[in-house]
Amino acid sequence: MRIDLHVHTTASDGLLEPEALVNSVVRAKIQVFSVTDHDTVDALPQVETLASAAGLILVPGIELSAYWHKKEFHILGYFFDRTDEDLQAFLRQMREDRRTRLQAMLNRLWAMGVKVDGDDVMALAKNGNVGRPHLARTLVRQGCVLSTDEAFERYLGEDRPAYVRRPEVEVQEAIRIIHAAGGVASLAHPGLHNRDQAIPDFVAAGLDGIEVYHAKHTHGQMAHYRKLADRHRLLVTGGSDFHGGVDSEHGSAPGLPCLPEPDYVRLCALAEVRGVATPK
Ligand code: AMP
Ligand code: ZN
Ligand code: FE
Ligand code: FE
Repeated sequence: MRIDLHVHTTASDGLLEPEALVNSVVRAKIQVFSVTDHDTVDALPQVETLASAAGLILVPGIELSAYWHKKEFHILGYFFDRTDEDLQAFLRQMREDRRTRLQAMLNRLWAMGVKVDGDDVMALAKNGNVGRPHLARTLVRQGCVLSTDEAFERYLGEDRPAYVRRPEVEVQEAIRIIHAAGGVASLAHPGLHNRDQAIPDFVAAGLDGIEVYHAKHTHGQMAHYRKLADRHRLLVTGGSDFHGGVDSEHGSAPGLPCLPEPDYVRLCALAEVRGVATPK
């Protein structure tokens, strides 16, 4: 069985609408997948319908941005109830915070003489879950920079002049929200951070799993994180982090890499123990 538990759509910063995304999942011969958009579940109802029509199993997913000692981490949630009231309220607040933050970043750009129209940025962020990638793409479109990479290098990167932090949700809080909605929480792409010293704190907060398989993990990193998972008794998750195109941070197609089936079976077993019906 081919399994990919990490792909994105236009509901966050992916380039593909749900329909095109599901088509590319089918082309990659995936049978089980999870759409894990950043801080939103907005694509899930439509993807559910498309997945079931295509005979695919869809695991409900999300990728929450969260912080530990001011450093950003991404926490994946799986098998939760996407209609959970507290989860929905939390996500509405996050979206509001992102809009406020966009305005602050635009103000900084204007002060530097880079006049970007906020409406153009919001038009790219179809459902309002706006982030730096949308702003970067707008800067490219307007000819201010030649590439999104240049937009981050000059303006939007963490130490660059137009960067504004978002209100920080703690990793512990992100794990709590996922658990309260009945889900399983996994640390995304730990190999991209090299901050393993944080992991014991996350385990203490109830982290269930760790993303061993990721497009940008080397074989050495995969082996390292599998050992670490064993040591902390964490489950193993994985996927391509496909965003619909080819870029330096993410997988270039669904299924690169896949999650081995035995790891998926263990995840389902935990979800069932939690009382969540796993999708069949
Ligand atoms: P935000 O959540 O709005 O702060 O945007 C974070 C997203 O921007 C990340 O998930 C990446 O997809 C993207 N990103 C961050 N840093 C870079 C970079 N240096 N080059 C390209 N994309 C980046
Ligand atoms: Zn992303
Ligand atoms: Fe991520
Ligand atoms: Fe991702």
